[in-house]
Amino acid sequence: MNHTLRVCAYCGVSFADTGRTPLYCSARCKSRAYDERHREQRRAYARQWYLRQPRPPQPPPRTCEQCGQEFSPGKPWGRYCSATCRYRAYRQRHRA
Ligand SMILES: [Zn+2]
Ligand SMILES: [Zn+2]
Repeated sequence: MNHTLRVCAYCGVSFADTGRTPLYCSARCKSRAYDERHREQRRAYARQWYLRQPRPPQPPPRTCEQCGQEFSPGKPWGRYCSATCRYRAYRQRHRA
């Protein structure tokens, strides 16, 4: 019998070819290689999925109606840069 030596595609160990052209030295290496391949695929798939998702539109920066500073509103209807400005505007509106 002349066993051909093969090299495990996963761990790199040499092992005797038993005739079924195995790529891996053991079932363990085989399943690990399988797992890794699938993890890669899942990751690639997740990345693709993520890239396909529409980005929520960023509200354009607005100018605070109270202090005139530019700010990016957390909500598209935000009129003031901060709670302080909102409060000040409120006070001014309701001042006598
Ligand atoms: Zn191996
Ligand atoms: Zn402001």
